[in-house]
Amino acid sequence: MKCSICTSKIDVQANGYEGGHNAFPISNGRCCTRCNDNEVIPMRIAIISSGRAMPTQALKDILAEQRKARALAKVSLNHITKQVNEERKNNG
Ligand SMILES: [Zn+2]
Repeated sequence: MKCSICTSKIDVQANGYEGGHNAFPISNGRCCTRCNDNEVIPMRIAIISSGRAMPTQALKDILAEQRKARALAKVSLNHITKQVNEERKNNG
């Protein structure tokens, strides 16, 4: 099984368990011990100590959606800029 955060192979834990750790709220699915210790646990502690509610959606999914939204906004903006420039050219 691969880690849903770093995509490397999930390690076997000391007790022989091969299923990794719950990767939420960083991502959905399972993660390796290194990602659990370095990303998942610190993120949970940070959220709890900030007094915020635990996210209902994985942060990886939220970031992917934001990237898509930004890409879409950029396309629209480029489109508008192109239109404005063409109108200027035609009027000038
Ligand atoms: Zn990992």
